[in-house]
Amino acid sequence: MKSEIVLGVLVRLFTTVAAVRCYLDLCRGSRPHSDDSVSPGYLEVGLVPTMGALHAGHLSLIRRARQDNKIVVVTIFVNPLQFGPNEDYQRYPRTLERDRALCEQAGVDALFAPSVSELGVDRPHPIQVMPPASMISGLCGAFRPGHFDGVATIVTKLLNLIQPDRAYFGRKDAQQLAIIQRLVTDLNLPVEVVPCAIVREPSGLALSSRNQYLSVEERQQATALHQGLSQAEKAFRSGERLSANLIQAVKTELEKVPAMKTEYVELVHPITLAPLEVIEDAGLLAVAARISSTRLIDNGLLRTRKPILAIDGPAGAGKSTVARRVAEKLNLFYLDTGAMYRALTWLVLESGVAVDDEPAIAELVSQCHIEFQDHESNQGSKHIFINDRDVTQEIRDVDVTANVSAISAHAIVRKVLVKQQQRYGSRGGIVIEGRDIGTCVFPDAELKIFLTASVQERARRRQQDLKNQGKAEVSLDELEQSIFERDRKDSTRVISPLRKADDAIELQTDHLSIDDVVRAIVRLYQEKTDRASL
Ligand code: AMP
Repeated sequence: MKSEIVLGVLVRLFTTVAAVRCYLDLCRGSRPHSDDSVSPGYLEVGLVPTMGALHAGHLSLIRRARQDNKIVVVTIFVNPLQFGPNEDYQRYPRTLERDRALCEQAGVDALFAPSVSELGVDRPHPIQVMPPASMISGLCGAFRPGHFDGVATIVTKLLNLIQPDRAYFGRKDAQQLAIIQRLVTDLNLPVEVVPCAIVREPSGLALSSRNQYLSVEERQQATALHQGLSQAEKAFRSGERLSANLIQAVKTELEKVPAMKTEYVELVHPITLAPLEVIEDAGLLAVAARISSTRLIDNGLLRTRKPILAIDGPAGAGKSTVARRVAEKLNLFYLDTGAMYRALTWLVLESGVAVDDEPAIAELVSQCHIEFQDHESNQGSKHIFINDRDVTQEIRDVDVTANVSAISAHAIVRKVLVKQQQRYGSRGGIVIEGRDIGTCVFPDAELKIFLTASVQERARRRQQDLKNQGKAEVSLDELEQSIFERDRKDSTRVISPLRKADDAIELQTDHLSIDDVVRAIVRLYQEKTDRASL
């Protein structure tokens, strides 16, 4: 008889590899073939690796994992491989019962807390994963020899063991995050690394399990790290780009606290971690310091990119019309994701590959390149190119229209397009709309709008559109039913369901004209950019 796994009731605690593997084997069904429907039995797994002594920083990772996945696994392992001989391995807080209760409240499905011997890290001469020297020679790597070898090794083991679809890491440990992203790329690990924002106390102090070591006075002194980074960020916003000056802004604040012993203040590229003299597009300003024997780290990401405006919402809420108009008004680039899906569909059809042959489609689309370019004779109107061929006209063909939804439903097509959208987004200055732009594609967009309208209103608008196009009349009841069904499908999709981002501003448009909506978004954008003086 097959065992039944009950999810979401009590957190299951496992301490052995055998048990957690068995649990996940029972939970998992087959992988989804497409994002078009919920494949029964397939459950996406999100992993949050931690060393325990959980705080609100960890819980923010767990919350994000809970939103994105059907199963959330948290691991708690104080990894001896990443502690130096004179570091706080013995002293590190171990609070399993409390952690378990927090995980339960947060809706975690399974907690994996193995012993050192269970994970086999105490064996002599184990195989280790070594990050590239260029990524560990600076920042914490210079002060903690062997630390990132230990991190990379244990994270590789956990990813192999749990085989999650997504793994969540905090930006608090920015060097760790960059190394793990590189690890996943270089070793072709089939997991999406999801970076999560730093969670701070109201004082600005970044949450850390090690904050427990600080006295009340030291906690106050420790806020100098964030104050230093904030001063540097202010200077950056006023146009300062030179590494030496930005670093000095941090040091000036740290020097005000005699008890603070600075280890380093460095400016590096956030992905390669190479030291920067000057910020071109982005810089990671990172700091480590000690107060008594407590080592604290913090960082800030400084980006020159122009803002990204992400508009999500249910089908029929007017996203694409509004996004185009807003882009025009604000002189931003409307990144037409619909056209991108059509271009890929055109490529598949043109190549003679069967619409349902996903591996062949993967072969084709993973090598393709999409560009938008100004049209020579008509500045301002963008043409779309795929593999250097202008397909602006072709993507409107009936064949493309008939097949675009089947092709877009393949998980690989979405994956490729999200990558290409993110590549465009890295330059900023775009408006982009969809179902999951603010939640998945650009979770760090400067302004997120959730554009919505009631089912009845969307049905009325659709009926009017059909009428304007001279099409046969469909009853409001029928339209409402199909919109309701589409909402249900979109919000229960396995991959990237429709969901309002936590930090999105909801615009209910039932009683607003398109002009009203455009005006409201333009105003929000201007307020936001004024405030950030971007
Ligand atoms: P640790 O238990 O310190 O190994 O941290 C486990 C995960 O939580 C890592 O990905 C950390 O980057 C993340 N994390 C720790 N503190 C914070 C914080 N204050 N904000 C966001 N993420 C954090």
